[in-house]
Amino acid sequence: MTQEDRNSGYYHQERETATAEAWRAYHERRLKGLAEHACQFAPAITRLFERAGVKPDEIDSLAALEKLPVTTKTDLARLQAEDPPFGGFLTVPVSQLKRIFMSPGPIYDPQGKAAGFWGWSEGFYAAGFRAGDVVINTFGYQMTPAGLMFEESLLDLGCCVIPTGVGNTETQVKIMKDLGVTGFVGMASFLRKIGQTAREQGLDPRRDLKLEIGYVAAEILTDSLRREVEEMFGMQLHQGYGTADCGCLAYECRESAGMHFTSNAYIEILDPETREVLGPGEPGEVVVTLFNTVYPLIRFATGDLSAYTIEPCACGRTAPRLTRIMGRVDQVTKVKGMFVHPQQAGAVMAKFPRVKKFQIVVTRENEIDRMTFRLEMAEAADDSFRAEISEAIQEGIKLRPELEIVSPGTIADDAKIIVDRRTWD
Ligand SMILES: [Zn+2]
Repeated sequence: MTQEDRNSGYYHQERETATAEAWRAYHERRLKGLAEHACQFAPAITRLFERAGVKPDEIDSLAALEKLPVTTKTDLARLQAEDPPFGGFLTVPVSQLKRIFMSPGPIYDPQGKAAGFWGWSEGFYAAGFRAGDVVINTFGYQMTPAGLMFEESLLDLGCCVIPTGVGNTETQVKIMKDLGVTGFVGMASFLRKIGQTAREQGLDPRRDLKLEIGYVAAEILTDSLRREVEEMFGMQLHQGYGTADCGCLAYECRESAGMHFTSNAYIEILDPETREVLGPGEPGEVVVTLFNTVYPLIRFATGDLSAYTIEPCACGRTAPRLTRIMGRVDQVTKVKGMFVHPQQAGAVMAKFPRVKKFQIVVTRENEIDRMTFRLEMAEAADDSFRAEISEAIQEGIKLRPELEIVSPGTIADDAKIIVDRRTWD
């Protein structure tokens, strides 16, 4: 397939290339419809409007949305725990869902039956995925939605999907070679690892593999990592931004100069403290109102820090672009694409009375996140204890930790539970 084929066209041409006026009218119409539907069928949204003293028909402009409070990820986890399974946000009976996932938090993520539920097709198309691509999807297919949410859109575009999941680097190389794989979906750091493994086997990833296009998400993509992987394989790499609760929120086009807002949601950037709506170039929290009639999250605060630009883009898409994701607003930290909550770590540690104090230190070396649990012990830690606690952490947080036993008094009483020492270039 030529570069030209991959770089031309739109998935939702009218929406993606709308004039500023049409863009506003489209979003206002969707918001109004959503407010009325959600208030009627989602008890949590009815209560939210009542508490704010707002009637659904008052949501008649983009600015009117500011009358409503934000719902944070912590609020969502709490509301789900108080009123399981979906905290009153679901507008249909559970039996009418297509799938239900569970993300760390824990938070249940419903998937409705409608096609395009997660909204990634627009992003994959903009990145250059086309019918005829043979794609390995290296995101996980169990519990969390990543693997299946991306697969839905790949199938929608007419790609052939090989669900390889995470790990098994040597097998991934074999599959890429044997099946003439043209597309990759996963984390950029993992794609680099696959390329390194191919080289160790004496292969030249540019010559012996057919990778042309890659879609990466779930970690901050630095310019250096992007260049390295693109050169390693002779391919185009694009990133998307989304969450397990919302699906796709923004995606890169061929210009790789920021991520266009999806047309499936209304996105605001708010001051994390004052909740004031911020303008272009001002960093703040990404807050989303999803045009999703099954699970209508209204002003859902993702906890991600970003800023946006309204400068025109050469691709012809008119939606604003997130310039980059700058990290997490609160203490919740994303490690290897998974959220790590202090409470979640505390719950795991509570099972080990021998641990007097603990702290998580997140670092990044060679574009790979490392999560180290520093432990102050009441008594010596032998190998079987290490194995047991590693396993418990992996079960509770879905990430393999490094362990560091530190001497008593090392971790201050008021120390932060998660210390993020990563820097981004
Ligand atoms: Zn663009």
